[in-house]
Amino acid sequence: MANKRITVLLVEDNPVYSRLIQKLLSRSDYPLFEVIQVGTLEGALDRLSHGGIDVVLLDLILPDSTALDTFYRVRAHDMRTPIIVQSALDDIGLASKAVENGAEDYLLKDKINGATLLRSIHYAIERTHARGAEWSSSMLHLAQQQFLKAAYISGLDDNIRQRLLFPERAQIAALPFKRDGKDQVETVFAYRVQHVLTMGPTKGGLRYHPDVSLGEVAALSMWMTWKCALMKLPFGGAKGGVRVDPATLSKDELERLTRRYTSEFISLIGPDKDIPAPDMGTDAQVMAWIMDTYSEHVGYSVPSVVTGKPVVLGGSLGRNEATGRGLAYLVGEACRHIGLNMNGATAVVQGFGNVGMHAATFLAEAGAKIIGVSDVSVALHNPNGLPIDKLKDYVRQHRQLFGCPHGEIIPSRDLLELHCDILAPCALQNQITAANSSRINCRILAEGANGPTTLEADDMLDARGIIVLPDILTNAGGVVVSYFEWVQGLQNLTWPLEEINSRMQGVLTDALARTLRRSQAEKVDMRTAAMIEALSRVGAANELRGLFP
Ligand code: NAP
Repeated sequence: MANKRITVLLVEDNPVYSRLIQKLLSRSDYPLFEVIQVGTLEGALDRLSHGGIDVVLLDLILPDSTALDTFYRVRAHDMRTPIIVQSALDDIGLASKAVENGAEDYLLKDKINGATLLRSIHYAIERTHARGAEWSSSMLHLAQQQFLKAAYISGLDDNIRQRLLFPERAQIAALPFKRDGKDQVETVFAYRVQHVLTMGPTKGGLRYHPDVSLGEVAALSMWMTWKCALMKLPFGGAKGGVRVDPATLSKDELERLTRRYTSEFISLIGPDKDIPAPDMGTDAQVMAWIMDTYSEHVGYSVPSVVTGKPVVLGGSLGRNEATGRGLAYLVGEACRHIGLNMNGATAVVQGFGNVGMHAATFLAEAGAKIIGVSDVSVALHNPNGLPIDKLKDYVRQHRQLFGCPHGEIIPSRDLLELHCDILAPCALQNQITAANSSRINCRILAEGANGPTTLEADDMLDARGIIVLPDILTNAGGVVVSYFEWVQGLQNLTWPLEEINSRMQGVLTDALARTLRRSQAEKVDMRTAAMIEALSRVGAANELRGLFP
């Protein structure tokens, strides 16, 4: 589990109380706290000017300032950082006035303990994030930039352009769920966003990650629209998310959270409305809980409300590994296109979860030598090739790659810069940027993750002749087999694995061929070509349906 670190500015002149706060925070394993203590208002303002503070614990009575004036001056100096006021019992009126005027919370010094302190900090940061940054997301910015570029080049009708720039529908919930063995109820923010309702039901994964926000989910839902349209699937794009770190939850907590999520969003989802699937931090088990909760609500079994569920519940053969398998198919096609022999080609894979692990497996099966892989915990390198099966066994036992003896540890930031033929970022967004793209050393960049490359980096990679296989094409194997799962579910049929794989290969290679043709005909990079291909379909559907009323 990655260690989240929170920097607290403790503004307090009483040494006994300062020591108590530091002691309470030092006992937390997750998140970890760094406490910076100052004893005066001037000291606090000076430290805030340097940035990097996540939350301020503020005593209102200081040697150089007293009462609400202390709060007002800190607030005026820094409008964004959440402030928790600390007060004695006899100052409670003052503290609640500070809250009325924008402090996130107050803590009573006489009653403070580790649990109240941690909860107060956690919620202060969460609320500030929810208030200020829901739409402000670098991912949404990237998704919109990519869209606007393709819309401009393809001459998309301006009315449709404005319509597609933001999602049609979004719902936010503050979700409560019970923690194990505690009386505590945790409240987290949860989202479901539907970008385009024109093409049929909406479709998109559900992500559990501590950075999830409305903007991020909106970006992911936009990419789903383009992906489904590029693959010619009868879906619009959607996405869901919960701002939570699933690695900190027990299985029971994960189940309670998932069931509550389903019930909060039950009016939005359904086999004919919106069909969730796994994404980062969720898996087939999470889909099974969603299906069960939904079925309990309507009174009969509805397997087609989700895809990516276990096979025994109506999941499709091949869905679990489909995204990685699809990536390897497309890399094979791209190798043929540029005359690169897959057999012996070197490959680097960032991320060793569902997409990365299967991508590495199928690339290796096709003859590629996997010389680097990483997850959150570590990056491993072996110029002679890493034994992927042994790495998978290790992760099955230990959850992460950390401690795995089969490769040399390298700094994570160096992994993407390893010299190789095929680079597959399969973890997070925003990994290849203007800052590192000049050091990317591959011939084919195959995007398993959503949004790993910024627009500036795209231009730089294109100028260097690196073929970028864009996310909406390269990781579409998952949604293609999800579509097959949905179709099988609606018809109560089961297709054999060979049929599923060959149908998926057909859909992906057709989409690649169309993208290559557009790229060459319109002299644009592969991402823009794939987007234009997708936009032409969504634009035509919008025009044909017309606008109600
Ligand atoms: P996942 O199963 O949760 O795996 C994510 C992997 O990325 C884990 O190995 C994680 O490491 C690793 N990771 C996270 N942050 C990292 C970092 N900073 N550096 C290196 N590794 C890091 O998620 P997934 O389903 O594979 O999804 C990965 C990406 O593919 C996402 O962008 C997702 O939207 C996209 N995608 C997924 C699917 C699908 O079918 N699942 C389909 C299309 C697109 P730890 O395990 O150590 O946390």
